Amino acid sequence: MSVPGSVRSRLPSAGTGYTNLVMAGDWTLSAISSGCVEAAVMSGMHASRALCGVPEAIVGDSLPDGDDVARPAPAVAPSRPATLAPPTAPRGEYVEIDGNNTPLQPYAAQNVTMYNFVLEADMDRLQAILDRQLNLGGPTVYRPLGPFLSFVAATMGPMAPAAPKAWLAEKDFGFWIPVLAGQMDGGRFEALRPAFFIPYLWVDDYLPQQAGREVFGYPKGVGVLTNPTAPHEPAEFSIDALVVPRYGAAGDPEAEWTWRRLLTLARRDGGTLGELIGELGDVRALGGAVLEELLRAFARDSLPMPTLSLLRALIDSAVDLEVPMVFLKQFRDVADGKQACYQAIVEAPNRVTGGPFNAGFLPGDWELAIEQFDSVRLIDRLGLRAVGGKVAAAFQFWVQFAFTADPGHVVWRVV
Ligand SMILES: Cc1cc2nc3c(=O)[nH]c(=O)nc-3n(C[C@H](O)[C@H](O)[C@H](O)COP(=O)(O)OP(=O)(O)OC[C@H]3O[C@@H](n4cnc5c(N)ncnc54)[C@H](O)[C@@H]3O)c2cc1C
Repeated sequence: MSVPGSVRSRLPSAGTGYTNLVMAGDWTLSAISSGCVEAAVMSGMHASRALCGVPEAIVGDSLPDGDDVARPAPAVAPSRPATLAPPTAPRGEYVEIDGNNTPLQPYAAQNVTMYNFVLEADMDRLQAILDRQLNLGGPTVYRPLGPFLSFVAATMGPMAPAAPKAWLAEKDFGFWIPVLAGQMDGGRFEALRPAFFIPYLWVDDYLPQQAGREVFGYPKGVGVLTNPTAPHEPAEFSIDALVVPRYGAAGDPEAEWTWRRLLTLARRDGGTLGELIGELGDVRALGGAVLEELLRAFARDSLPMPTLSLLRALIDSAVDLEVPMVFLKQFRDVADGKQACYQAIVEAPNRVTGGPFNAGFLPGDWELAIEQFDSVRLIDRLGLRAVGGKVAAAFQFWVQFAFTADPGHVVWRVV
């Protein structure tokens, strides 16, 4: 039997709240969640998989076993009590709708050129962003890699999903925070892997905005994004975006959403982009050169963390050609908009699939002129070191490659 509304109360086989107890029976949460032999069998398989990993797949039932939600969470975010996650809700198959603009991942991107401008940032502000958006009580804790982040301007295309068979060209301009994902061991942070978190990102059309937000949790806004497209063009990138200059009452002209220049990134001497000279021809060469520049720019005293050897190990791991991204994926609840009806920390790799790979440094001194608005305060939130609204880049480089935005996994489902 499965009376209406009762499924949400079913526990998954391993979702007992105890690491040494699993359950089986037609009354647990399964893809069927009803009193029949098939449900009893699926439940038994969930219990078995939670205990010994077999069977790997349960035909017709892609629900997790529940052991991902049963472990007690370490106390990591003092502002939020660590709580056990609720049972995993049953999932439906994604309903494809004609004209639906959220295509199936993975998304394969070719002809990617990524311009990367490394900026100094305040560790406490970066940590505050990570605590607010990622450290929500789950077992994985995120810390900034160091007192820096990157403004990344990327152009790519064709960008093609798995289905439907179609493509578009895309621009992505935003701020990338290199982070360490780890766990708390007592009061000590143990770093496990590097990742990137993007708290601010603009794209040049609503299609990539929608897919990026819905599938992964990229906080994409739509902007008018400009960049140099030839060596003789001025070395200038810009974002115009919808902003609110000053929050206020409806009708207040300053409180109206309006298109404004958000940032302009340019060479201080007003020079041209120039030829891109690919002096760093593989990932290891790029990683080594970036590490040297990071140390030159930010290790004046010492990097707060991680240690130099850890940083080197992280660069080496980048040679695996996987750039893990971490996201806050959430949807606002329809009844109580202050609550999320779905909220999860998600990780997904961007896998470098090939080339032609090329990379090098961009010549010249670059600076970012940033306007602050009530709706987006980049300097304040990111803790950028600004003088008169201008932020100098410590160093800058470009990379050309192809990559695939692969399916990811839920690290911690809050609701
Ligand atoms: C009349 C009837 C007709 C059905 N017809 C169908 C059908 O046509 N098709 C279909 O798919 N499903 C049918 N079902 C449902 C199906 O039988 C159940 O979904 C299935 O048997 C559940 O399996 P289970 O292992 O979860 O529990 P059970 O089969 O109920 O097994 C639980 C076992 O635990 C034992 N037990 C209980 N307490 C203790 C204890 N304290 N110590 C030790 N042992 C204990 C019980 O004696 C029992 O043997 C029917 C059910 C009924 C009652």
